[in-house]
Order: sequence, then structure tokens, then C-alpha cells
Amino acid sequence: MRKAIMQELQAEYEQQRMQNEQQNLRNRAEAVAACPEIGEVLNARQEMIFAGIRGILNGQGAAEDIPVRMEVMNRRLGVLLEQHGFPADHLDPVFRCRRCEDTGYVGEPVREQCECLRTAFFTRLYKRVGLGENAEQSFDRFDLSIFSDEKLPGKSFSQREVMNVFRHQCQSWAEKYPAVTMKDVLMMGQSGLGKTYLMHAMAKVLLQRGFNVLMISAYRFLEAARKAYFSGNTEEMDTLIDADVLMIDDMGSEPLMENITIVQWFNLINERQLKGRGTVISTNLMEAELRTHYTERIASRLLNTSQCMILQFKGDDVRRRKA
Ligand SMILES: [Zn+2]
Repeated sequence: MRKAIMQELQAEYEQQRMQNEQQNLRNRAEAVAACPEIGEVLNARQEMIFAGIRGILNGQGAAEDIPVRMEVMNRRLGVLLEQHGFPADHLDPVFRCRRCEDTGYVGEPVREQCECLRTAFFTRLYKRVGLGENAEQSFDRFDLSIFSDEKLPGKSFSQREVMNVFRHQCQSWAEKYPAVTMKDVLMMGQSGLGKTYLMHAMAKVLLQRGFNVLMISAYRFLEAARKAYFSGNTEEMDTLIDADVLMIDDMGSEPLMENITIVQWFNLINERQLKGRGTVISTNLMEAELRTHYTERIASRLLNTSQCMILQFKGDDVRRRKA
């Protein structure tokens, strides 16, 4: 996926450079049409540069007055452009990104990716793995102040304190994976408690670290499972089983279909655990509900604390608090 995106971007940057060149020629033609003297000065400037290069190549050196003459010509061009109502940079090369001049790379002698290329790459990567418009959600931007700092009923700690701990656990897991004790993460609790946010933030860290992450809703998972079951087309299921880290949001919200749901969930969790690949799941269901909905066989896999880091989200719905 990474390679394909990079190839797409390389092709787009090349396309962009061609468009720049065409735009440049159009700007120049426009200026020359409005003022023939601009064309004359441009030609003279070009000729002077060539003569300078010829001089260097045949050992005579470039004429010493070139910088001064260049300055005069450029000033003349500036005056002519202004007189004919063109912006001062009308004849300058056109670039979408000035830093890399639309090559995507900066730096000498060590070439590195320009910020514009990196941003474009990750924007596309996030979108393709299912992060989309949530890509701005990160640990850095995680705002603890939206959680209540009153003690939770019957507890000696507040929702905010719990969330602070969970944030660190999730961040540390994403930064260390696959060198983590528990390969799976189960986020439990009602909606509006920040589970999905933390999941997105984890996905971002893992993607930046180069892992192949996939995020889907439980509903989409069931669609893929259904396809595999009815048509024998297991392509999507195989992709889910093979992702370095798979994140499934909202387990329990998908319709329960006789056999398919249970069998495919078990398959997925089992296969991934066998392969030692991490799975992050969020659910609104409580432990007992997990057991009745998904059978003991699946629940025991998920609720096994030596395999799975279980985070019990508690407190008030943040969205309701905000409103
Ligand atoms: Zn750039």
C-alpha cells in the first residue's frame, strides 16, 4: 500500500512539474504579447547567460560585468511588467511548493522528503486505512480537560485520571508494538468516553512507525465475513487477518447472523493471535454481554488478561457534557 501511494504521488509530482512549465510558458507569452520589449530583454538576458557559460567552458571565464548587466535587465523587466499591469513575479518559475520546487525532495547532499510530500503521503495513507477525516486525532491533541475531574461514584479517582492513565497505556503500546506483553487491546465502555479517539491516535503512531494498520467498523467486518462465507471470496478477510495491526471499532453494533458472526469473529481473533499480530477492539458491551453475544469461546480469548490489555472506560459521555 505504501509503495503504491508513493508511486501515485511521484507521478502526480511529475505531472505538476509539467503543468508548471506550461504555465510558465503561457505567462511569458502573455507578457511578450502585451509588451514586445519584454521578449527582447528576456532574449538578451538568455543570450548573456549562454555567452557566460561558453566563456567558462572554453577557459576564458565569464565576463565580469554579467551581474551588473543582469541587475539592469531584471530591473527593466520589473518596470515593464508593472507598466503593463502584471505582478512582479509574473515571469518567475511557477511552483506549488517553493521549498522543493515540486520535486518532493529537499536537501543536499542528503536528500530527504519535503514536508509537502510527507503530508500528502500520510493524508492518503490515513484515508486508505480508514482513518480519513479523523487523522487529526492524536495523543498530542488529546484533551484531558473535557473529562470530569470529580471522583467517579464509589471510587477514589476521577474520569480524567483514568483517561490520563489510558492515554499513556495506549501511547506506550503503539510506540512499542510489537514488543508489547499483550498483543491485543480491548476497550470497553459506553460510547462517548473517548475509545475511538484513542484508537485513532494509536493507528497514527503505528502508521508513522511504518506498520500496516487497518481500521474498520465491526459492521464492515461482518460484511467482509459474509462475503467470505457466501461467495468464498476471502480476499478481504485475508487482508484483515494479515494486517500488522487490525483495529475494529464498535464490536457488538453489527447484526448477529446465525453462525457467520460468531464463526468469523472466532476465526479472525484466533488466526491473528496465532500469527502474533495485534488487534485492537472497542466495544460498548460489558463482560457478561460479550459472553452471551459471542459465546464463551470468543469472550475468553478477549478477556484473557495475559493476551489482552483490557481498558474499562467509565464516566460521563463527553459529547453530552460538552452540549
Ligand atoms: Zn515540497
